[in-house]
Amino acid sequence: MTDLSNHGEAGLEKGAVDLQRYSHAIMGTFGVPMRVLTRGEGSYVWDADGNRYLDLLGGIAVNALGHGHPAWVEAIASQAATLSHTSNFFATEPQIALAERLLDLAHAPSGSRVFFANSGTEANEAAIKMARKTGKGTIIALEGGFHGRSTGALALTHKEAYRAPFAPLIGDVVFVPPNDEEALRAAVTEHAADLSAIVVEPIQGEAGVIPLSHAYLALARTLTRRHDALLILDEVQTGVARTGAWFAHQLHGIQPDVMTLAKGLGGGFPIGALVAFGDGPGAMLGKGEHGTTFGGNALAAAAALATLRVIEDEDLIANVKAVGAHLRERLEAMDGVVEVRGEGLMLGVGLAAPQSAEIAQAAVAAGFIVNPPSPDTLRLIPALTLTTAEADTFLTWLEGHFEAHPLAAESASDGGTP
Ligand SMILES: *Cc1c(COP(=O)(O)O)cnc(C)c1O
Repeated sequence: MTDLSNHGEAGLEKGAVDLQRYSHAIMGTFGVPMRVLTRGEGSYVWDADGNRYLDLLGGIAVNALGHGHPAWVEAIASQAATLSHTSNFFATEPQIALAERLLDLAHAPSGSRVFFANSGTEANEAAIKMARKTGKGTIIALEGGFHGRSTGALALTHKEAYRAPFAPLIGDVVFVPPNDEEALRAAVTEHAADLSAIVVEPIQGEAGVIPLSHAYLALARTLTRRHDALLILDEVQTGVARTGAWFAHQLHGIQPDVMTLAKGLGGGFPIGALVAFGDGPGAMLGKGEHGTTFGGNALAAAAALATLRVIEDEDLIANVKAVGAHLRERLEAMDGVVEVRGEGLMLGVGLAAPQSAEIAQAAVAAGFIVNPPSPDTLRLIPALTLTTAEADTFLTWLEGHFEAHPLAAESASDGGTP
């Protein structure tokens, strides 16, 4: 049974009133949020009524260090007190150091360069402009792929419901099914003369945590080399230690021409980045060809530097692997779970029945935040600092939920779960 004991009726009022204010003041693009949150610490957040939740969503793979990590807070506070924003007519030490650090972590060859933006979408916009600079038109992207909601990034995003109301988007984007090597070969052959780039997420996030196979990524690398096109890896969600490597492509021993980052990079502070590998890509966008007011802001750069430093100092890559493996092992042993996809702390839990929305709703009522990206998948993308003991509290709850709701499959199929 769902434990509602810590959710007092009187307390619900403050959150409910705040959500009404939200709905009256904020555009309805996100629907009505689940709760109003007021505070976070480590792996936990609290709502306006004082209820605590184990956060296994991490602000959608953003809060890499959990909430309020002292080193991250200190870095932001001291940078804010020293120098925050300057405009790109001026350089700052944090932005230079962050670019150097990213190039180093990515083992980027000489000539590689970084462009800073403020979000994943914007990093991908810069990548699209690089594809355009090749002088060729066609971009191959993947069915199920998600790259952002601006009209450019949306053109690479597959989901029809996101695209249709805003057509026409930039043309010449060809979608192929992920992990279908023959389809990729055929599309490349058909568009060989005009192929500017192949854009993929190493593990598709919004699609429900769908990993690309090693062979598929290697093929994308081979074909782009052969046709002098860019391999653009959108590591906005997979990057920054999420998968147990600094960047997911490192698990496959390949190097892209372009990698985009955002989500976890700032540990909760908005920042995006594009890494262009080698002197060709590194020099593609020249003076005046791209820009942003906030991109590379010293405050954002300091937050990102602190995030990278803590990941290294606390050996969070080892934690990601250990806690990820533990989650996988216990989840795979559960009735109701048919498979666990993904790497590290980016896991898609494939359910035996399309009941993810119902489980996510029961979970939040019981004090656990999980995300249902598709009807039969729960996505776990928590802080990289999550402990095994914290993970166990959720796993034990989930096990109990499956036991208590053995008929959930049937009720979900006629209960209208989206
Ligand atoms: C979230 C996401 C984006 C968009 O990033 P924003 O910061 O929301 O603009 C792009 N690509 C992938 C793979 C993402 O997960």
